[in-house]
Amino acid sequence: MSSQPATDRNGARTSLRLLLPPGGTALPLRIAVLAPPWIPVPPGGYGGIEAVVELLCEGLMARGHDVTLFAAPGSRSTARVHALLEDAHPDAIGSALHDSDHVACAWEEVEQAAARGQPFHVVHDHSAFTALAMADRVGVPVVHTIHGAFDRDTTRFYRRHGHKATLVAISRSQAASAPTGVRIAAVVPNPVAVDRWALKTDKEEYVLWIGRMAPVKGAHLAIEAARLAGRALVLAGPVQTGHEQYFREKIEPHIDGLRVRYVGEVGGAAKQRLYANARALLMPIRWPEPFGMVMLEALASGTPVIAFPEGAATEIVIDGENGMLVSDESEMARAIDQMGAIGAIDPARCRASVAERYDIAVTATGYERVYRYAAGVALASAALAPHIQPNRDLRASGHSVR
Ligand code: UDP
Repeated sequence: MSSQPATDRNGARTSLRLLLPPGGTALPLRIAVLAPPWIPVPPGGYGGIEAVVELLCEGLMARGHDVTLFAAPGSRSTARVHALLEDAHPDAIGSALHDSDHVACAWEEVEQAAARGQPFHVVHDHSAFTALAMADRVGVPVVHTIHGAFDRDTTRFYRRHGHKATLVAISRSQAASAPTGVRIAAVVPNPVAVDRWALKTDKEEYVLWIGRMAPVKGAHLAIEAARLAGRALVLAGPVQTGHEQYFREKIEPHIDGLRVRYVGEVGGAAKQRLYANARALLMPIRWPEPFGMVMLEALASGTPVIAFPEGAATEIVIDGENGMLVSDESEMARAIDQMGAIGAIDPARCRASVAERYDIAVTATGYERVYRYAAGVALASAALAPHIQPNRDLRASGHSVR
């Protein structure tokens, strides 16, 4: 594997081999993980990316790497935490002001580490868009995890800037939806810490919808499916800026505190109880869901997932084994009916289905290989792991990467 050229702070081309540990491949790496600036790690409530970052740092530290986490103030981690801005910005998600401020400060820290003779071997970016757009302006290889879906604007963005980093997709379906010209180097699934979720086998009668209140996540369709099934529905999640009208018009009129209960944004033990006691999690999504952490959390709690077959739901949900894939609200209602039947879906099997595939170690070892690949370090074994296939193989194999 050849080293990649990079540009140092004076604009000179440097070989990244100079930044790499000498010799062997098992040496610990110095890794800078860049979280978004909006929500502290771990998140107290909503925050899928922040939940992933927490577990990834934990997994990388457990594997002996030297990890610095650049994140919003208030963050905690087994990694060294460095907050770059004065405040978190949970109500300004996507703000260019905070994103560019956060990334410019991070790039300064990365340069200073190199100046001190302690250069990072790799920067792993989970933040919004500035870091990728400016990834060729920092003298360290950048790995960028794509956390969102490809739409018209992000397609243009990734086409223009994607080559500046090693791009990682979080599901096969997300990788498959990458626009032509956007090279996905690997698919590394998000993790879940299964043992942090209590397995419950005797369920209550309600079904659960949890997430951000956005039309693509389908809370309004969950209301319809639960109504058709005659089942109580609990809704949980924040109404983020820009979605107030959707909530006011499509959700609020149905909340009666009985058949449809809205508990707002939840976290901690209350969230765990909601998952564990629910008869099923409803995922009536209408977008190419890049991943969907809520599915992993429900399954870890022994709660089956009934989902529309969109995006990563088709990978996480194994139809008939840990949930059901259904095409619309009517089918979802019928599936809800079946969830009560004896022997329908085994809660222990739900939990095992994520423990087997989405353990922290799977994610940490996956990224470790990507880092070495990005940094140009020869791998101990020539091939990447089966779930970490380079793009060429990924396409040739019909995306059978796990
Ligand atoms: N979440 C939470 N409290 C809520 C709603 C959501 O803690 O009231 C968390 C949820 O547990 C999950 C994350 O927010 O970890 C949502 O991540 P997901 O990947 O499902 O959705 P997205 O990132 O697309 O919003």
